[in-house]
Amino acid sequence: MDYRLSKHNIISQIKNSDEYFIINPLSRNADILDAETAGAIMDGSPPNKEELIEKGYLSIPEEEEKLFRSGYLDFLDSRDEDEVQIFYVPTYTCNFNCTYCYQEGYENEKPSDYKPVIKAFFEYVDSEFAGRRKYITVFGGEPLLPDPTTRAKIELIIEEANKRGLSLAFVTNGYSLESYIPMLKTASVRELQITIDGPADIHNQRRPLHSGKGTFSEVAAGVDAALEAGLPVNLRAVMDKENMPHLPALAELAVERGWTASKLFKTQLGRNYELHYCQENSNKLYDRLSMYEDLYDLIKKHPVVMEFHRPAYSISRFLFDNGEMPEPLYDSCPGCKTEWAFDYSGQIFSCTATVGKPGESLGTFYPEKTLKEDAAAAWQDRDVTSIPECRNCELRLACGGGCASAAKNRNGEINSPDCRPVAGLMSLGLSLYFKEN
Ligand code: SF4
Ligand code: SF4
Repeated sequence: MDYRLSKHNIISQIKNSDEYFIINPLSRNADILDAETAGAIMDGSPPNKEELIEKGYLSIPEEEEKLFRSGYLDFLDSRDEDEVQIFYVPTYTCNFNCTYCYQEGYENEKPSDYKPVIKAFFEYVDSEFAGRRKYITVFGGEPLLPDPTTRAKIELIIEEANKRGLSLAFVTNGYSLESYIPMLKTASVRELQITIDGPADIHNQRRPLHSGKGTFSEVAAGVDAALEAGLPVNLRAVMDKENMPHLPALAELAVERGWTASKLFKTQLGRNYELHYCQENSNKLYDRLSMYEDLYDLIKKHPVVMEFHRPAYSISRFLFDNGEMPEPLYDSCPGCKTEWAFDYSGQIFSCTATVGKPGESLGTFYPEKTLKEDAAAAWQDRDVTSIPECRNCELRLACGGGCASAAKNRNGEINSPDCRPVAGLMSLGLSLYFKEN
């Protein structure tokens, strides 16, 4: 039999260790190797062939191709069953003046009658997503502004969602959240995503009101009130080199306020990056790997960060928590597949990265239904089997081809790669979870 090294092996040294790891996202195996064995495998003269064959690290190319194709069909089938996240933007207006806002350059809207648009949005959801599991995420701008018109819009969205038994998530800056709690309690709230970028002084520098006034105490009070009311909170911190050193202080604060002890509380770290509008000071921005390198060093010095947030480090955390590899990732971009975005002007977009961006509209749901079928199909067909660069990349089933919008911004077209530094992330993550822990 003509066994060869699998095209899906990912081998690299574990950070701060003499040992190496090998993972194979197709055969779903992962092992730690000594340097000698890793070297022999990389040189193409592997020892213990039987074990390597059993784990799929050595395989017959035609057999492996069959496994790849049948896995792909399973992936497509299971995606058809996945829940769809439908974003609705009732406004692009915001009361914050965040230093890094990517929507800053978007035009502000003209006042319009929101009622027929919201009704048309729900009718579109009824007809176009019939039979799919789904929920709606209300996004902005800032969707929970304190004025009466915005409150009336949110009330109507809740009413229409409740009629249909749909749950709602809200992506909010949190400033007026406390005053919205009684209204939100009438909805089925899946999650409130609220951003806090650090302890008070750091958050206030980065996320002030337009007047320059700080916002930390109101936002933190909103988190307290939401948890108190039994509403799940997903706290997000948008990271760059300026606030990374302050993450331990934010973690301590979250522990002290009792947030991390709540089952309703979870966190995510976003990366501040140039999405559509150039940022003034782009040398404070991280690339994907350097952010997680700095986070690794920070966690080693301040373990409290892990009480606040356990980073995924590609599939390292999954492997640690579940004791097995995840399913192969043939696609990591949900746009136009399990994610869509709609805005108050009646337009349809692929996802949150493109919503409201001039030139990215894929159609309209109001005043009439239109869809640019070819443009939507370009999103739907993009995965690691369609992107030429991904077809022979050993990382493909751990990377999934990345974000289509980021790929288009960088390469000018959707069907192009947005590479994830999978090996580097795994090197850090396996060290953190399996060696340091
Ligand atoms: S384009 Fe990027 S932001 Fe939009 S759904 Fe895909 S991965 Fe997400
Ligand atoms: S996006 Fe880049 S790293 Fe990811 S699978 Fe494609 S070529 Fe490989």
